[in-house]
Amino acid sequence: MENKSGQGILKNRGVVLRRSDTPEGNRSVYVLLENEGPVWLLAPGAARGKVRFGGSTDPLVWGTFHVYRGPNRWYLRDVDVRKDFWSLRSSSIRIRQAVHWVGSILGNTLPGHPCNDLLPVFFWSLSLLENPSAREDLASWRFYWRWLRIWGMAPELERCRSCGSLPGRAFFSGEGINCEKCGGQGIPLSEQERLALLEAAISGHRDFIERSGQSGIGSRLVEKCTLVLERELAERT
Ligand SMILES: [Zn+2]
Repeated sequence: MENKSGQGILKNRGVVLRRSDTPEGNRSVYVLLENEGPVWLLAPGAARGKVRFGGSTDPLVWGTFHVYRGPNRWYLRDVDVRKDFWSLRSSSIRIRQAVHWVGSILGNTLPGHPCNDLLPVFFWSLSLLENPSAREDLASWRFYWRWLRIWGMAPELERCRSCGSLPGRAFFSGEGINCEKCGGQGIPLSEQERLALLEAAISGHRDFIERSGQSGIGSRLVEKCTLVLERELAERT
């Protein structure tokens, strides 16, 4: 229960972003918590095995975190694990991708600043990554596009940003696309490639998995465009 000074017990959903153990055997867990944003939670003695958290303080573990908010620090009491995404570890490409996303979250969010909309985007992106039928390059593109969308910065992919036409060939930049007539700088995309990016960004979870394998765009190009999105994100923060 909460009192006036904000102390007390808190039970919020969240995901472990990183974990750090001290030589004295204390553990700190950096958790992206619903309604609170990223916060450090202390688990004294946890690294010595005094408090048995098992794997529940590993990065990428999702669950409900039981937190005691002390006057100066917050303490982790317990975790009800919902999903640990352990299966990602069986693919070096996929776990590297997940770790890369965690790095972006660490770099582009501020401690104590809630970002509730990011939680489902991250969760469902990890779920896609877990699915062997889903292309991880397109899943990453989708993750960053959707993150930018919740922050109101996702580049428009349907119409030319200068003249509003539905382009054939187009140039993609962080601000959107330009048709050939309007020109400008950016990554050249065929109509098929642009539509593949659009579909990967906005399609539902199941459609994404079903169509991922037949997507009309190569991985190198997807990665190039994803880097543009990552840069947009970094510029905002
Ligand atoms: Zn145009």
